[in-house]
Amino acid sequence: MGDFMQKLIFLKYGELSTKKDNRSFFIKTLNDDIKKVLENDVEINYDYGRMFIVPKNQDFDSIINKLKTIFGIHEIVLAYKLDNKDLNIIKQNIIELLKNKTFSTFKVEVKRSDKDYPIDGMQLRKDLGAHILKNISNIKVDVNNPELVVNIEIRKKEVLLFFDSIKGLGGYPVGTLGKGLLMLSGGIDSPVAGYLAMKRGIKLEAIYFESPPHTSEAALNKVKSLAKLLASYNSDIKLHIINFTEIQENIYKNIPNDYLITIMRRMMYRISAIIASRNNCKIIVNGESIGQVASQTLTSMNAINSVVNIPVIRPLACFDKLEIISLSKDINAYETSILPYEDCCTIFVPKHPVINPEKSKCEEYESLIPYEDMIYRAIKNKNTIKITSKETNYSDLL
Ligand code: ATP
Ligand code: MG
Repeated sequence: MGDFMQKLIFLKYGELSTKKDNRSFFIKTLNDDIKKVLENDVEINYDYGRMFIVPKNQDFDSIINKLKTIFGIHEIVLAYKLDNKDLNIIKQNIIELLKNKTFSTFKVEVKRSDKDYPIDGMQLRKDLGAHILKNISNIKVDVNNPELVVNIEIRKKEVLLFFDSIKGLGGYPVGTLGKGLLMLSGGIDSPVAGYLAMKRGIKLEAIYFESPPHTSEAALNKVKSLAKLLASYNSDIKLHIINFTEIQENIYKNIPNDYLITIMRRMMYRISAIIASRNNCKIIVNGESIGQVASQTLTSMNAINSVVNIPVIRPLACFDKLEIISLSKDINAYETSILPYEDCCTIFVPKHPVINPEKSKCEEYESLIPYEDMIYRAIKNKNTIKITSKETNYSDLL
């Protein structure tokens, strides 16, 4: 390494840096998240455009792998910093870096954020390109499809040299947009929906409806496992476990078969809205996808959604099942999600659930059951646990 170069990582915030009013809050949160994930074993400096990370004891690969789990980072770049902006020094260091690389075509990209730098961008690109051609044999310039891009960023105080960048998770730092309550079922959809909500900066709490003895401990553990997976994106998750047995049995006994699911889901929504408001969650998030099942037709969504006022966000509303499965695999949820444990929605499934439920009928049927008392009891008896990424691994118990 040249006398003046320092190897470091810098991050591009992407979308983050366009948020004028909240920008410093977002960047500060990202800084805290990174410190937490990297256990303070780094030095961080930042401005509105870039965040610089210098390792203390960890190696670069291990740091990069951890940075890949943090929302709000759009690009991770391994770079070399020069504190001397003299053109000859820049040239000398570039050649030194290029000596260790094999490539046959290249181009030079220049970003000149320091507008007072005496040489303009075009000239820099030409000078540096010519210098590289002169000093390294058997290479040529290819502006369209180069094997190597030599990036030079001239900043106020320093110059950055780098080659390629690694894609980060993108999105916003978790929590910067507030809190939401995820209806987490243990299926394929809801963990993916949760992931996408977190990506938009939403901190999650989760709610799970269980119906013991019709649903098992194993089904609950599966949900805990999925919550833990979501918690591994640097954010503990409070999981509210609601005993739904009384409500479900009562619905099963008293409500016409084709409306079972519709009414059941109206009850879930009502309870979720109360838990959300008590815990300062501004939205409900769930894994519904348009047309996937009878309860997810537009008319059904309308009949079900109408019992709450809080916004219900459905990140997967317009995704195909195959797209959802592919995302589920990407986030390592799939293997857990497909474990065959009964869900409270699947145990009392009617043969022909109504596809176009009428609100007036829902209300009429609901008047047959003391649902407000039952909801009160279910919420009173809820069990809330905190799930952290370091929690026991429940997959052992499944
Ligand atoms: P899959 O995830 O494979 O679709 P599912 O559990 O989502 O299975 P659906 O009937 O499609 O089954 O449920 C729609 C959404 O309602 C779920 O994505 C989830 O957000 C919520 N939900 C369903 N059952 C429960 C439950 N037992 N506890 C909490 N939320 C649930
Ligand atoms: Mg579903």
